[in-house]
Formats: sequence, C-alpha cells, structure tokens
Amino acid sequence: MYNVEEIRKDFPVLRQMIHGKPLVYFDNAATTQKPQCVLDVILKYYQEDNANIHRGVHTLSERATRKYEEARECIQKFIHAKCKYEIIFTKGTTESINLVAHSYGGSQLQPGDEIIISHMEHHSNIVPWQFLCEQKKCILKVIPINSRGEILLEDYKNSLSSKTKIVSITHISNVLGSVNPIKEMIALAHERGAIFLVDGAQAPAHTRIDVQDLNCDFYAFSSHKMLGPTGVGVLYGKEKYLEIMPPYQGGGSMIRQVSFEKTTYADLPYKFEAGTQAIAGVIGLAEAVRYLTALGLENIENYEKKLLSYIENKILEIPEITVLSQALKKSSILSFVYKGVHAHDIATILDHEGIAIRAGHHCAMPLMSHLGVDASCRASLALYNTQDEVDSFVEGLKKVKEVFKSVIT
Ligand code: PMP
Repeated sequence: MYNVEEIRKDFPVLRQMIHGKPLVYFDNAATTQKPQCVLDVILKYYQEDNANIHRGVHTLSERATRKYEEARECIQKFIHAKCKYEIIFTKGTTESINLVAHSYGGSQLQPGDEIIISHMEHHSNIVPWQFLCEQKKCILKVIPINSRGEILLEDYKNSLSSKTKIVSITHISNVLGSVNPIKEMIALAHERGAIFLVDGAQAPAHTRIDVQDLNCDFYAFSSHKMLGPTGVGVLYGKEKYLEIMPPYQGGGSMIRQVSFEKTTYADLPYKFEAGTQAIAGVIGLAEAVRYLTALGLENIENYEKKLLSYIENKILEIPEITVLSQALKKSSILSFVYKGVHAHDIATILDHEGIAIRAGHHCAMPLMSHLGVDASCRASLALYNTQDEVDSFVEGLKKVKEVFKSVIT
C-alpha cells in the first residue's frame, strides 16, 4: 500500500507554514524536496568521513572513496547500466549534455553533419548543440510537435538521414509533461547510424529507467530533481562511445601521467571526472536512489498517475484556464494559462495561499513561442503530494478570479 501520509513524514521541509498556510509544494519539476535520510547521510559524511577521494591512503580518504564508488554502483543498478564505469558524475543534466556535445560532438562530427532535437526541448538541450553547430559547421534540425504536445513521429522519421549523427530528445517535457516514445525513436536513429542522447532530467523520480532496454547511447539526469542534493548529476554513456571521447576538462584525477611534453589520461570513468567532485552530493544522490527504490518506481508512477488525473479533472472547475498539453502519455506536470491574467500574478496569488508553482518560460522559450504564450503556470507533482493539496491549489486558483474580476471578461 502506498501511504502518502507516512511518506510525507520523511520530508521535513513540507512541515511548514507559508504566509500562515500549510506549504503546498508543486514546483517539483524545478527541484524536488529531500527526504531526511538524504540529509542524514550528507551530514554524517561531513561529520565522520570528510576527506578527498582516490588520492589519500589514510582511513578517512579510503572511507570517502568507498562511499563514492558504492554510489556509482548504486546508480549503475538503478538505471541498469552494463558496467559501473559507464556512470560519470557531473554537475547535472546541463553539464552532462554539454560534455557529450563538446567531447563526442567536437571529436566525431564533420561540417554538414546533422543533429536532431525537438520543439519541446529545455534550453540545456538546445544551446550546447548550437555551440557545436557553430564550431563544427553542423546543422541543427528541430522536429515539430502536434497540438496535443506530442512529437510528430512521421516528421522525425523523415528528418533522419545518413547525415544525422546525433539525436538528442527529452524523455519527459518539463513544460508539457509529455512522455516521449524514446525507445522507438532510439531504434529509428540507430537504423540510420546516429547516436541518441536522452535528456532524462524529468524522468528518474517518476518512472523506471533501464538504459539497456532503451538502448540509448547517453542518458543525462540531475540528482536534485530526484530527491537528491543539488550540484550533482549523471551522464550514462555506452562504454564504446565514452572510450573514443576525449576528456571534457583537464585537471587532477583525470590523468594517468603528466609531463610538460605529453599527458595521458585515466581510464573510464575518471577520464571525465576532473578535479574534486561533489563527494557528499554523490553520496546523497545514492541515498535518494535507495529511497526511491524502496518505495518502488512502479508504485510512485501509479500514484502520480492518479494524482495527475485528479488535478486535470479538478482544474476543469475553472473555465478561464487552458491546459497546454493533451498528450496521451503524460507525466505529473500541468502547464496552463489563465485567460486575461499573467502567469506571474497567478503564482504570486498562490504563494500567498502557501502554494509554490512555477511561472514563466520554464527555460523552453522556443516551445513557448510555438504555443503562442510568453509565460505559463506550471504545477508539477511529486510522490509526496496529495489530493488535499490539489484541492487547496484549485481553491487558490479560484481566488485569482476574485482578485482580477474587473479584468477577466
Ligand atoms: N532538461 C530538462 C527537461 C529539464 O527540466 C531541466 C531542468 N529544468 C534540465 C534539462 C536542466 O537540468 P539542470 O538544471 O539540473 O542541469
């Protein structure tokens, strides 16, 4: 049985009042809250084990190194990667994508080669490819979406050619919540000899990831969106690609031998982990993964599905609201606009009710202009949200009408 009230007890931040009202945290697509066990392992690490890793022979360094490397194995199992050295720790999804664009793209692409993204990408999955296109004289192609907020697969198939070298698509849209058919898209890219990167920022807290089953070449995600701390992320990459990629940054830890004449690099995964890593963050991420695994991703997914359909039905009580996505496969994100009222005003009114939502362009400006809006509101749910919170949210939205009654026609 999924007991959300028990689960909520694990998240201390949720036990607070904002403007005299219980906090309703619906900004989970931006970052999730952290359970006590994650906070505890970070504190324990600093209190008992803090040392730099891989370099020291003293006990603290050995302990810190063991925990850091155990975290790598934990992530490997979580996403079902073949080997632990296919897990590279980064700062987050953004750095993971930049790493691939810079290192794989910079070394493997030729002028005239094509990179495919979609119309629903986050800036993190647009701008690094623009850098690469500029640097290597490659061409960026963008697949359109339909009015429901789904990628047009026929257009995707038609865009693929022998010139396509990289496809980089979000698993779940951070604005629309659309769950893209990435397994099918990956197979199609491979038929054309292109490699496929999945921007997984919005996925691992909501659905099970199996990189071998997906057969993706790279999968990028962020700790802070899956109950872990900020400043840490993961790049999964197939060994055969990571092996041929040059290092992304130079510095300590990533070398085998350095001389002024020539430097040789460390093996995977260290070749891509230059400098002192976010050790406590990595250990915290592994604890978040243990927490998610103990709850069961299938249980979380089923619970969130019910909560999403509850919020989608409830919001129909407010005729002034238009929901931006009708995708048939959707994760727990609800973006909407309110007739005649700016998204920031709605978010401010809701904040006074203790409700945290996101308003703006959600780092997806091209998508917003495609949708014909400059800003939208986004309520994004997580495993600890409840139907009562949805009710408070809808009641809060009804207050918007009272405040703006003179301008809403
Ligand atoms: N891609 C998507 C789909 C996202 O939602 C986000 C975060 N909003 C990112 C990439 C970037 O993640 P981060 O800021 O953690 O690097």
